[in-house]
Amino acid sequence: MKPNETLWNTPREAADFVDLNIDEWGDDHSLSAYDTPMREDAFELSDVEKVAKIELHFKEIMETLGLDLTDDSLKGTPHRVAKMYVKEIFSGLNPKNKPKATLFENKYNYNEMLVEKDISFYSNCEHHFVPIFGKAHVAYISSGKVIGLSKLNRIVQYFAKRPQVQERLTVQIGKELQQILQTEDVAVVMDAKHLCVASRGIQDDTSTTITSFYGGKFKEDATKNEFLKYL
Ligand SMILES: [Zn+2]
Repeated sequence: MKPNETLWNTPREAADFVDLNIDEWGDDHSLSAYDTPMREDAFELSDVEKVAKIELHFKEIMETLGLDLTDDSLKGTPHRVAKMYVKEIFSGLNPKNKPKATLFENKYNYNEMLVEKDISFYSNCEHHFVPIFGKAHVAYISSGKVIGLSKLNRIVQYFAKRPQVQERLTVQIGKELQQILQTEDVAVVMDAKHLCVASRGIQDDTSTTITSFYGGKFKEDATKNEFLKYL
């Protein structure tokens, strides 16, 4: 139901309701689809144009907070933040930055599970724009093709470099690996700390969040348990 469809007596009441719900939803990290919601015109601006635009907006945020941007320590911050957003921590939004995966023939006929564990990743929560970080564990069973091990890390990091929810991040990595490796037999487990939970809101510094993706043979208990045993 939309705010203008009754229920509220005043616009203020309606606004309070919407605020409350945005807040709750923001903490829920609920998941809609596994594609990152992007605008049609997402790449009409060049990276240089994006940096310039974000720099202006970030300067305004800092000034609105009351900070003195003529201070030596602060004056470079809007540019630094803008560059960091576009070139580093959100660079995974742009498909041109997707790692090129070269496949090799599985000449040694290794037909068992391959597990790459404890892959460090840094991402950012799309509801609060503060870090999510932790370890990813990925596994696959070769369908006749193998991939360079560091490519597994790069794929994790590419999808992490977006505003994310951990559930979507996990599925995006799993689906990408299935596609590249031409097999359904892929598993991903992610164990992460969310600073939006630790440093604000509920301020729980000890909890971590675990998400998983199991495809093909990894849906079977024996294979799944073997994978989990290695972690
Ligand atoms: Zn959050």
